[in-house]
Amino acid sequence: MNDLEILKEMAETKTPSTPKIFSNPARNGHTNGASKISLDTSISLDSSPLASPLASGTAKPEPKTGNAGLFDQIAERDHEQVVLCHDKRSGLRAIIAIHNTTLGPALGGCRMWTYASDEAALNDVLRLSRGMTYKAAVAGLNLGGGKAVIIGDPRKDKSEALFRAFGRFVEGLGGRYITAEDVGTGLGEMVWIRSETKYVTGIPVELGGSGDPSPVTARGTYVGIKACAAVKYGSDSLAGKHVVIQGAGHVAASLAKYLTDEGAKVTITDIYPDKANEVARATGATVVAPEKIYGIECDIFAPAALGAVINDETIPQLKCAIVAGPSNNQLADEERHGQALKDRGILFAPDYVINAGGLINVANELEGYSQSRALKQADGIYDVLKKILLLAQEKNITTVEASNHVAEERIRAVGATKRIYASSSHFSGRFGEYWQR
Ligand code: NAD
Repeated sequence: MNDLEILKEMAETKTPSTPKIFSNPARNGHTNGASKISLDTSISLDSSPLASPLASGTAKPEPKTGNAGLFDQIAERDHEQVVLCHDKRSGLRAIIAIHNTTLGPALGGCRMWTYASDEAALNDVLRLSRGMTYKAAVAGLNLGGGKAVIIGDPRKDKSEALFRAFGRFVEGLGGRYITAEDVGTGLGEMVWIRSETKYVTGIPVELGGSGDPSPVTARGTYVGIKACAAVKYGSDSLAGKHVVIQGAGHVAASLAKYLTDEGAKVTITDIYPDKANEVARATGATVVAPEKIYGIECDIFAPAALGAVINDETIPQLKCAIVAGPSNNQLADEERHGQALKDRGILFAPDYVINAGGLINVANELEGYSQSRALKQADGIYDVLKKILLLAQEKNITTVEASNHVAEERIRAVGATKRIYASSSHFSGRFGEYWQR
């Protein structure tokens, strides 16, 4: 399964069904009327950074949005703003979700996908944008969490006009949301978007962008694995450790090089044997068949292909001490499978912490891109992850609970400083009381 197939499966099987909030007559051939746009459902004037900053030290599970109305769904995950974007001429139907901007503008990718329903698209963008808040917060970035989804088939429905229309909606948000590539979009689309807005990252190197993020993601993953080793074995040396990597794509290729350069033994697999063989040639890794990957006796299992690979079926097969890799959403059920790994004594590196190098890379574009600065920042994942793993040990909670706690604490603490008046802040509040009279 490739990323798109996984996403489709997620959209079809994991999205709770919701009432038909956004009926979509256009997709059923019933549209009429001129090009219309954006129902901007700006909400949540509550300035508290996150609804419940984990006073108890345990993470809130992802809310179940099954029967909630529109505002209930948005409020349940405590989103600030959700924007529906429509442009009939270009065929654009997009949702931009801004989850939390306490730390800065909401940055997150723009995903294009043939969602089974508008509700599935809404649920996906709400879920993903919330995840970006946490990812940016633990990565130490001054960014909030946001995400966009474009409803359409990335193989058939892409056009310059559609992405430029999307870019105009992003521009209209005045920098509250900054977009980037995601599943179904790439460099070409970011260039189209850039014709209309400066609030876009992930643009090509020739245009001053950061290009391929995978070297920085791999660096963050590598130092993250070392942090796991430090906590599990008392030494962060990977010399002689056996690392099994699932997937031999962009991130895995760089990761395998870091690992073998340090003297680790690497075993790798890919559904395309050529890709695994290529990594093996470059690094001396051993290649195995994809179906054998979970049961290999090793120190570290590094998912670098798919999401949801840590599940009821695979957890009993694992013969490793650590699960730490770059894949997004590795746990099929964050709460249950995080706990199952803990119960088996397997240390889990929360994926949004260890793979934050990709976000760090695009965030660096906002300051004028420098790969050496991005790599240095990705090295910071070592300390952050170690702190999270130790916190989990100390509190006897899962590592995901601990990372959520660290993210929420940073947002709460930084949010609290915003009560202090700074002259560079916007001035509108200064006269507010007099306007009322
Ligand atoms: P990629 O597409 O280059 O590589 C993924 C590889 O996995 C491909 O070679 C594919 O053939 C292989 N694969 C697919 N299904 C497989 C299976 N069942 N068994 C074995 N191999 C399989 O992707 P990438 O950019 O290297 O990213 C890897 C993972 O890390 C993805 O989950 C991605 O979402 C995540 N991630 C990547 C970045 C980044 O900077 N590229 C950043 C954050 C997270």
